[in-house]
Amino acid sequence: MSDAPTLPQFAAIVVAAGKGLRAGGELPKQFRKFRGKPLIRHSVEVLAAAGADPIEVVLAEGTRELAKEALAGLGGIEFVGGGTTRQESVANGLEALVPHSPKTVLIHDAARPDLPKEAIRRLLEALKDHPGAIPALPVVDSLAVAGDGDVMAGKADREALRRVQTPQAFRYTEILAAHRAWDGAKNAGDDAQVLTENGGNIALVQGDERLKKITVAEDFMTAHSAPFRVGQGFDVHRLVEGEELWLCGVQIPHDKGLSGHSDADVALHAITDAVLGAIGDGDIGTHFPPSDPQWAGARSAQFLEHAVKLAGEAGFALGNIDLTLICEAPKIGPHRAAMRTALGAMTGLEENAISIKATTTERLGFTGRGEGIAAQAIISLYASA
Ligand code: MG
Repeated sequence: MSDAPTLPQFAAIVVAAGKGLRAGGELPKQFRKFRGKPLIRHSVEVLAAAGADPIEVVLAEGTRELAKEALAGLGGIEFVGGGTTRQESVANGLEALVPHSPKTVLIHDAARPDLPKEAIRRLLEALKDHPGAIPALPVVDSLAVAGDGDVMAGKADREALRRVQTPQAFRYTEILAAHRAWDGAKNAGDDAQVLTENGGNIALVQGDERLKKITVAEDFMTAHSAPFRVGQGFDVHRLVEGEELWLCGVQIPHDKGLSGHSDADVALHAITDAVLGAIGDGDIGTHFPPSDPQWAGARSAQFLEHAVKLAGEAGFALGNIDLTLICEAPKIGPHRAAMRTALGAMTGLEENAISIKATTTERLGFTGRGEGIAAQAIISLYASA
């Protein structure tokens, strides 16, 4: 396998001068933690690793210390003061590059943390034939033109439209000249517009959905922790005569039943512990202590329902359940369908996301001797905020 060709030399400007109020929180959003590190650091790390040098980071007044901390240890970084508009901020970044006289420059937003290296490569490649190149994606939804009173006034042809992302790539001398020629009283949507109005053409290069801009608090909530979680649970109850046998909220006819403080539904206890484990919120004993008389004989369905509700409050929805019951008897197969239906009702999961398996232990150990039933469960959660 041959090494990928190295990228041509390029400089970068990362615009981080926004106040970021839409994303909520006290810090400007570009300095808030996103997947464990400041939002701005994600794309700057990629740019630095791709060879961008220098990287002009354009900052709002009073944020230099925050930026130094957020980007500590990265090479080739220079800080520039921002302007009152985005195009002024970019112009400041371009002027700061004058002593470096780079051939090409990538202009990026700090609020787009996922920056695939292939996107950088496609943009720089397109600059061989064009003075500018921007990542663009097709529009998949149909488009309506809003008229007075929010009434549909017409439709737009989505085939002719593209969604534009950053980074935008330019030959340096041409974008610098275009910015210097720009009428400062006019608001530019982006740097591609600045170049086209100065006569430069722009290549539309295949964009990437991962270049999504982080704009609202929900984006941070979703990304605050890993978007997926897993949890596992294990439980055992003793089989005794004179007790009812409940598994997954279904009563099973058998000559013995499970003993315990609640209805002793060993399957639901394992699943409940798995859900609580995935959100790091204790275990079934923490939330429903056996010492509390209100849980005597309780239906275990309410334990699982409560755990799913806690997961929802933590920003997660249940993805799937994989349960294994370990016993010699009763046979689980004849009751599997009813158990899946019951679990679906408790959790809101589709039945194809609920697996109930059963095994024996070849007559070995306490399950083999029929002294008890063991259950183990693995579940997944996904960020639902
Ligand atoms: Mg238990």
